[in-house]
Amino acid sequence: MALGVYIDGKWSEGSGPRFANACPASAEIVWEGNAAGPEDVAAAIASARKAFGHWSRLPQSDRTPVLERYAEEIAKRTDAIAETISRDMGKVLWETRAEAATMKAKVAVSIAAQNERAGSKFETAPFGSSHLTHRAHGVMAVFGPFNFPGHLPNGHIVPALLAGNTCVFKPSELAPGVAALMAEAFEAAGLPEGCLNIVHGTRETGGALLNAEIDGLLFTGSAKTGVFFHKHFAGRPEVILALEMGGNNPLIIWDPADVEAAADIAAQSAFLTTGQRCSCARRIILPEGKFGDAVVDAMVARAKGLKIGAWDEEGVFMGPLVSENAAHAATDFQMMLSKAGGKPLRRLKRMDRGGGFVTAGVIDITEAHHIPDEELFGPLMQVIRVKTFDEAIQRANATRYGLSGGLVSDDDALWVQAHREMRAGILNRNRPTAGASGSMPFGGPGLSGNFRPGAYYAADYCAWPQASQVSDKAERLGAQGFPQ
Ligand code: NAD
Repeated sequence: MALGVYIDGKWSEGSGPRFANACPASAEIVWEGNAAGPEDVAAAIASARKAFGHWSRLPQSDRTPVLERYAEEIAKRTDAIAETISRDMGKVLWETRAEAATMKAKVAVSIAAQNERAGSKFETAPFGSSHLTHRAHGVMAVFGPFNFPGHLPNGHIVPALLAGNTCVFKPSELAPGVAALMAEAFEAAGLPEGCLNIVHGTRETGGALLNAEIDGLLFTGSAKTGVFFHKHFAGRPEVILALEMGGNNPLIIWDPADVEAAADIAAQSAFLTTGQRCSCARRIILPEGKFGDAVVDAMVARAKGLKIGAWDEEGVFMGPLVSENAAHAATDFQMMLSKAGGKPLRRLKRMDRGGGFVTAGVIDITEAHHIPDEELFGPLMQVIRVKTFDEAIQRANATRYGLSGGLVSDDDALWVQAHREMRAGILNRNRPTAGASGSMPFGGPGLSGNFRPGAYYAADYCAWPQASQVSDKAERLGAQGFPQ
C-alpha cells in the first residue's frame, strides 16, 4: 500500500478515504492508499508556510544549486519515472522517457527564465537610484493533469521553488505514482523539509486545498476544472491563479506538394499520446476537391496502420486511453458527432483487449450541425472541408479555446495570413500542433487559460515585482505651493 501524505519530508497514511489507480493496459492496481483528509491538507499548508520563511529569504544563488542537483537526481531516476508513469496512465515507454528528460531539462530553462523575466534592474536617478527586484508569493497549491503527471506539475513546482515559494502538490489521482519519485529526488538534492509537501487524493482532497490558506494556485488540467477554480477564487485577487487548460485545436492543410507529409503531420497531431495532449489537433480543415480527398485517404490509412499496444510492448505508437471511462467517453463523443450529421471514415472502436484500448478514428463533420465546442481527449480526428482559405481560417477560429493550431502549406503568403489571423497561443507551420519548445511560453487565449502561460513564462506568475526609489539620506522636498 502507498502512503498518501508527504509533509516535512516524511510520508504517512492519509486520514481520507482509500482510493486506487489501475493500469489502463493491464487492469492491475498500481497505486492504492488513503487520500489526504482536510487535517492533512492543513498540516501540509502549515509546513509549507513555515518553510517559506527560510526558503524565500535565501539568495537566488543558494536556491539555484538545489534545483540543479534536483535535475541530476531526476536524470538518475529516468527509468523509474518512465515505467511508473507508463503503468499509471498507459503512455508508451518512448513517451514517458521523453517526459522524464523534459523534467530534467525544465530546471535549466527555469533558471534562464527566472534570471531573464524575474531578475533585477538598477538605474541611477537624481535622488539616488531606482531598483527592481522580485519577491515570491508564498505557498502555492499545485494541481497536475494525468497526461503529463510528472512534467506538468514539475513545470510549476521548479519555477515556483526557484523564485522562493513553497508548494503543496496534489497529484492526479489517475497517475499518482511519479510524485514519490519527485519527492525522493528533491530530498536527495537537499531541498529543505516543508518546501514541497504532497497530498494525494481525488477532488475532495483538491477541494480542501482550494479552501486552505494558499497564496497561489498553479493548475494544469481541463477547462471545466479551471473555470470552476476561477469562480472559486472570484473576488480574491490576492491569490495568484495560473490556469493552463485544454483546447479544441485546428490544423489547416492547404495544398502542400507532399500529400503523404501532410497526412503524417495531421495524424501525429491528432493521435500522439492517444490524443491525450492538450495541444493535439482535434479538427483538420482541408479544401474540397481532389487534393483534400487524397490527404483524407492518407490520414485514414495512418489511423488504420497505427500500432497500438501496452507500454512495454515493442514498436508501439499508441497506448490505451487513461481509463475504461475515458474509452466510453470517446465512443459516446463519436456517436454524438454521427447523430449530428458526421460521417465516420474510420471508426474509433474499443478493442477486444479491454481497459482503455481504442482504435484511432476519423470522422467528417463538414455537414454536421450543432456540434458542441468541446475537447475530446482521445484519438478522434474531425475533418472539415471548405471552399476557400478564408473559410478555413474562419472555421479554425470558431472555438472558445485558443491553445494550439497549425498550417500545413508550402505557400509563404498563406502562412503570413494564418499567422496574423489564427487565434492560437501555439501556432505551428508544417509541424504537428503538439510540437512546442520548452524555451517558449506555453498557453493560449480564450478558454485555454487565464493569460498566464507556462513553460518559459512560468517565472512571471511565480514572483511579483517590487520597484523601489532609493535615496541614502532623507532630504527636504520642495514643490510649487508646498510650505517650506
Ligand atoms: P482535470 O481537470 O480533470 O484534473 C486536473 C486536476 O484537478 C486533478 O488533480 C484533479 O483531481 C483536480 N480536480 C478536478 N476537478 C476538481 C474539483 N472539482 N475540485 C478539486 N480538484 C479537482 O484534468 P485531467 O483530465 O487530469 O487532464 C486532462 C486535461 O488537462 C485536458 O483538458 C487537457 O487539455 C488539459 N491539459 C492542459 C495542458 C496545458 O498546458 N494547457 C497540458 C496538459 C493537459
